[in-house]
Amino acid sequence: MDYLNDLNPVQREAVEKTEGPSLVIAGAGSGKTRVLTYRIAHLLNKGVRPYTILALTFTNKAAREMKERIAHIVGSEQAQSLWMGTFHSTFAKILRYEAEHLGFDSNFTIYDTQDSKNLLRSIIKEMKLDDKVYKANDVLNRISSAKNNLVTAMAYAQNSAAQEIDAANRRPLTSEIYKRYSHRCRQANAMDFDDLLLQTNILFKNSPEVLAKYQAKFKYILVDEYQDTNYSQYLIVKRLAEQHKNVSVVGDDAQSIYSFRGAKIENILNFRNDYPNYQLFKLEQNYRSTKVIVNAANSVIKKNQSQIKKESFSEKEGGENIKVIKATTDHEEGYIIANDIFETKMRNRLKFEDFAILYRTNAQSRIFEESLRKMNMPYKIYGGLSFYQRKEIKDLLSYFRMAVNPNDEEAIKRVINYPKRGIGSTTIGKLQEAATSTGQSMWNIICGLNERPYGLNAGTISKLMKFANLVNGFAMKIEHETAFELASRISSETGIIKELYNDRSPEGVSRHENIQELLNAIQDFTQIALEEDRENKLANYLEDVALLTDHDNEKDEDRNKVTMMTIHSSKGLEFPYLYVVGMEEELFPSKLSTSSPQELEEERRLFYVALTRAQNKVSLSFAKARYKWGDMSYPRPSRFIKEIDPQYLDFAYEQEPEFSGFGSRISESDSSHEQMENRTRFQQKKKPEMRPKLSQSAPRIRPTVNTESNGQFEASDANTIQAGMQIEHQRFGKGKVLHLEGEAPNIKATVFFQNVGQKQLLLKFAKLKIV
Ligand code: ATP
Ligand code: MG
Repeated sequence: MDYLNDLNPVQREAVEKTEGPSLVIAGAGSGKTRVLTYRIAHLLNKGVRPYTILALTFTNKAAREMKERIAHIVGSEQAQSLWMGTFHSTFAKILRYEAEHLGFDSNFTIYDTQDSKNLLRSIIKEMKLDDKVYKANDVLNRISSAKNNLVTAMAYAQNSAAQEIDAANRRPLTSEIYKRYSHRCRQANAMDFDDLLLQTNILFKNSPEVLAKYQAKFKYILVDEYQDTNYSQYLIVKRLAEQHKNVSVVGDDAQSIYSFRGAKIENILNFRNDYPNYQLFKLEQNYRSTKVIVNAANSVIKKNQSQIKKESFSEKEGGENIKVIKATTDHEEGYIIANDIFETKMRNRLKFEDFAILYRTNAQSRIFEESLRKMNMPYKIYGGLSFYQRKEIKDLLSYFRMAVNPNDEEAIKRVINYPKRGIGSTTIGKLQEAATSTGQSMWNIICGLNERPYGLNAGTISKLMKFANLVNGFAMKIEHETAFELASRISSETGIIKELYNDRSPEGVSRHENIQELLNAIQDFTQIALEEDRENKLANYLEDVALLTDHDNEKDEDRNKVTMMTIHSSKGLEFPYLYVVGMEEELFPSKLSTSSPQELEEERRLFYVALTRAQNKVSLSFAKARYKWGDMSYPRPSRFIKEIDPQYLDFAYEQEPEFSGFGSRISESDSSHEQMENRTRFQQKKKPEMRPKLSQSAPRIRPTVNTESNGQFEASDANTIQAGMQIEHQRFGKGKVLHLEGEAPNIKATVFFQNVGQKQLLLKFAKLKIV
């Protein structure tokens, strides 16, 4: 029970009160996530079975970190069997078990946003609508928001309010598009992200026996970041908790920043109505940030009208004031920040990982990327176009998806003529038409062409049959080969590898490398799954990829790097030194938000989230001139800077009239442009270029051969590994064996690794050596 000493009295009370509904409402950095983590550990410690606990987090990474922490307290055996993950990944798992109740096959594909948009585009085209009026993106947002409010296509068509809005937006046929979209997803045995939640609700509503099963199973339910749940998520939690009512949610209304995706602050208020006997905990001490930062953040959020009243204080003295930096141009902003990071790092003997740059929009990252690269500083970027969205990767993944679920229409359309096999768009159009008119999937049409040719000639049919046979050949292997075996087979038998290899243009070479990188990642996945005794088939790999969140591509070698991400992505995280850049009107607050008070309040909450990520120091920067859409614009500094109580600000420049009357101090650390030039040149000479080849790449596998004298990492002979031994794992690095369990050949070792914490490995597969 030592772990309870890590908590203050209120946190401890919240942890120990395990039974009944409870709500923790508290400001940033006050230990909400810590309370959830310790509460789970405490439950396990009291003998609650791990598989009866359901914990829902905002990212997969948050779930992993929580699990590691819990493993540290109560051991990894217990932590492994917890139901812990994002809403989407958890309910995707449940939907696969229960798919038959919904008329889906359990191998359904999860469409990503790009698939959804492609499908919408083809529907809009088929309906001969103007794609400038019916923009796929806008229509998808409408459908998404309908789904998150549990409005199905059928209900939408009958909802007069929805019709009125669409008519006002000059898109009266949105409801027909929604209907076709849902129908086509079903035909393709596919669900989009919102379906994962909507269908879970439909399942629980229409199959009371299934709901009862999960109600009985999940005795304890915990939700982090509750302020950003949407109605669909709220209802899932409510339904599941109905039997045991042991539901514990933590959140901060001041950090609700996803209302554009349907998040509802009202969920917190509903909680009070749904569980009138709930216990409320208020945490007031912020352990993350200095006094200066907490007070500054409080002075900003105070400006919002709608908020739940709460206190937040810090006892961390000695914090530096928030530094405000002015740059002449956006490029200079990149330059100054990179230099500031360099100087601060040297002066305080810090690591790169102690720094983060946060921005309002992904597009801002490029300039910082360039300036950090010029100064040879390593960085990692979250978000933006991820590795898995690249064309060549999506093409190959589409073959994988077809091997698992050949009805997947978006996958068929991507690869039916890739690599080229002489199947043109007219043919695809005919197949599509046949599918729509007969209500069958495109794949079924293709497989039945010998009986019903739909006007296609014999030559075309033969090409289509060859394609179908190729895919069928892969599908037959799906249960028998590992993810890596089948992925390698598919990349060579489709001819993709060869085609890319033959393209010697720089783009072709890089695409070929990306495919190699993907195969490396799949090999990694296959091996780790083996070692950890999990399923390692291609379907399992695809599930992981489909549900990736921004933080999930992180590699071990990514540790000591400057972090760059949007403020939205930074939720729940903390960094010692923080730069919030692009503090300009029309950028932050965003141009779209300044007309409505509600949206402006959301932007302000976003600023509050940004400030409260910092532990030691915040710097804010703005540029006087910035390129936007190819034109130079001359923005004014963000109103949010002025909203901070000026006693917490230091201006790193002579103020202009817009800031007059601030009574500020001038910081001494403002470096002149010339000094920076010299320093940059000097550093460039000293260090080699450190640019990562892929900023968002899949994890790269380590070389299989260890270059040290005692040779290779090998699947271990279980007899030689003993508890207490120091070992080195090919991927996880050095660690100590804590204990062994099970019988040969299935002995499992629990190992504590210096870098990645506690892991359980199946010795017959784990590549270890004794050190
Ligand atoms: P956010 O609102 O940003 O998600 P949070 O309320 O979830 O923040 P945590 O991330 O749980 O806060 O905690 C913030 C930091 O304070 C963490 O580094 C955590 O380890 C530390 N912390 C929390 N409680 C305590 C405590 N009682 N003693 C020492 N450190 C603590
Ligand atoms: Mg948190």
